[in-house]
Amino acid sequence: MKAIRFIGIKQPLQMHEIPIPEIGERDILVKVKAAGICHSDAHYRAGISPVRPIPLTLGHEVAGIVEKIGAQVSSVKIGDRVALHYNISCGDCYHCSTGNDQFCEKVLMLGHYTNGGYAEYISVPARNAIPLPDEIPFEQGATLMCASATAFHALRKSRLKGGERVAIFGVGGLGQSAVQLAKAFGAIEVYAVDINEDKLHLAKQYGAIPINSKMVDAVAEIKKLTKNKGVDVAIEMIGLQQTMKQAVHVVGVMGRVVIVGLSKTPIEIDTYNELIGNEVELIGSNDHHLQELPLLMELARKKVLDTSHIVTKTVPLDADVVNQVLDGLEKFSSDVRTVIVPASNQPDA
Ligand SMILES: [Zn+2]
Ligand SMILES: [Zn+2]
Repeated sequence: MKAIRFIGIKQPLQMHEIPIPEIGERDILVKVKAAGICHSDAHYRAGISPVRPIPLTLGHEVAGIVEKIGAQVSSVKIGDRVALHYNISCGDCYHCSTGNDQFCEKVLMLGHYTNGGYAEYISVPARNAIPLPDEIPFEQGATLMCASATAFHALRKSRLKGGERVAIFGVGGLGQSAVQLAKAFGAIEVYAVDINEDKLHLAKQYGAIPINSKMVDAVAEIKKLTKNKGVDVAIEMIGLQQTMKQAVHVVGVMGRVVIVGLSKTPIEIDTYNELIGNEVELIGSNDHHLQELPLLMELARKKVLDTSHIVTKTVPLDADVVNQVLDGLEKFSSDVRTVIVPASNQPDA
């Protein structure tokens, strides 16, 4: 089969002809119908985050059709539409059995530490397959497994309750999902903070109150709109010192600040005035769990979470084309998501 593989840091990905993977008794073989090209993949190629073993097929946002099942598999059958949870965990260790499989001692991420979906076929344990309802196209199912899942986990970490107010800093791919999920979780007001008018416009369509922080001081504006109470939950999805500080300042009494955006730059916190005084909580949110995905999928099926804006471009399984998409992702942070659709797996099998 064809597979697009990482062969070394700062090297273009290469198309290789490799055998269709063997499956174990509890695994499935999936015919890939869509594989999302994520910003992380550009980081892997650039060497910002190490990939092993080499060569390795990239691609952690994968959806397709079950082609073959192992002898002990009963949760899915041949022909099922599935989207794949990208963390392959053992299922038995302390973290797996307490529902936090992203901390599994043996966790292997698809397209990072084990072969991913930039290929015609992929093999995964059956427990990683999330049924993909007919209402959700493969392209959207694939990308749901990354950005939307991360937003969903962040909201769960915030312990948002019905009737609370939320501020989302950064309404790109993650933020648009976060706005919709916050509404679904019962937020009465969701403030979307960004500097991009198009993104703010889309967030407004999903029911958010747009705040353009190029025009106004986001904290002052939200304080004004909430009669100086501030919000109950602030979620930072950008990874900038400035917006992290704003997230801390915009919450009121008992506020929860969830940091999702990645940054290695430390921020300064006045623990007395900014945390203790109002019993503010600062919460880190990383990745998502296997157990969260069925509900996320159901929210997408019911269009509570509209994913139709996410995928805007598809490309064939072609190394040159994929390298060009990664070049683009390295140069600018585009919210146009690109998904590989292997030509050999079209049209619908
Ligand atoms: Zn991703
Ligand atoms: Zn485990």
